[in-house]
Amino acid sequence: MGKAAVTGILAFLCLSTLSVPFVHGDEKPKTAPNGAETVRRLYEKVGRSVGLPPHLVAAIDRYELTISRARRKTRPLALNALTGIYIPDTRWAGELNPDPGDTVPVSIRFFGGIGRDGSGDGIADRRNDVDLLYTVASRVREYGSGNDDFAIGLWEYYHNIRAVQRVMQFAKLYEAFGKSDLSKHAFPLPLNSNYTYRSTWGYSRSWGGYRIHEGTDLFAGYGVPVRSTSYGIVELKGWNKFGGWRIGIRDLDNLYHYYAHLSGYNKSLKVGDLVRPGDVIGWVGSSGYGRPGTQGKFPPHLHYGIYRDRGMVEWAFDPFPLLKQWEREEQKALRMNRKR
Ligand SMILES: [Zn+2]
Repeated sequence: MGKAAVTGILAFLCLSTLSVPFVHGDEKPKTAPNGAETVRRLYEKVGRSVGLPPHLVAAIDRYELTISRARRKTRPLALNALTGIYIPDTRWAGELNPDPGDTVPVSIRFFGGIGRDGSGDGIADRRNDVDLLYTVASRVREYGSGNDDFAIGLWEYYHNIRAVQRVMQFAKLYEAFGKSDLSKHAFPLPLNSNYTYRSTWGYSRSWGGYRIHEGTDLFAGYGVPVRSTSYGIVELKGWNKFGGWRIGIRDLDNLYHYYAHLSGYNKSLKVGDLVRPGDVIGWVGSSGYGRPGTQGKFPPHLHYGIYRDRGMVEWAFDPFPLLKQWEREEQKALRMNRKR
């Protein structure tokens, strides 16, 4: 390509970047905002500049954060980063860019990089929170701002159907629950019911060939209510020859909570419905290990498992320590209420 042609392309890119709606610097707040407030303002600012509601920007960021936390080695975040977004430098600067640390918007565009300047300082910096959020949000927004457009934009950005599903789920949770603290948890069984459980992680199972036990069994009588341990969205509901009647709920930490061997469900719950911690989702039973409806092949219990989404695969981890923690927290809250 001749020098004139390159200059022409650069000039064209220069002009076209002028039409990018820059995010304007925030006015100085009167009192120092806390972390959550700072992040909320960041979502509003970026949302305004790209034309997306802030809860959609928040949902993208939340998804990115959960994956960055699950894969710390390959997705290192900057110290004090407010966003969880990680973009590899080859994607940011462009595969063929001789300078993988390029921060000049014009040359980044020229080499096909996606990095953009959202903060308006003329630099496309992949360690800058606004630039990172702006880069992803504006690319997703290119396909429109409706629900379907948003999903298409996510697909074009991630090329991963799981990522699209997660962000859409998180968006629904944020839209419904807004600013409430969504980190609250509950023990899956009512504390005043008769139950017993111990750590059974990794025990081999007897039915259906050799499988590692990926979860904790909580033994209780038929019909004891099973409650959601977290805020979340119902991702799966139905029969499985191992788990019997089971229900799967995704939370905002991108953890998949799996409740199995139920005797029945809360009839009003459907896939896509939202739950709060403590909401009754079904009842303890002994379903499973056979055709739909099979029950009684083992004592009634709740099998509870947690799986962490790592982007392409999910890994189970031992839920026992969390169960102990939630049980303690609820016991403490009950004692406090009694004292009042
Ligand atoms: Zn089990």
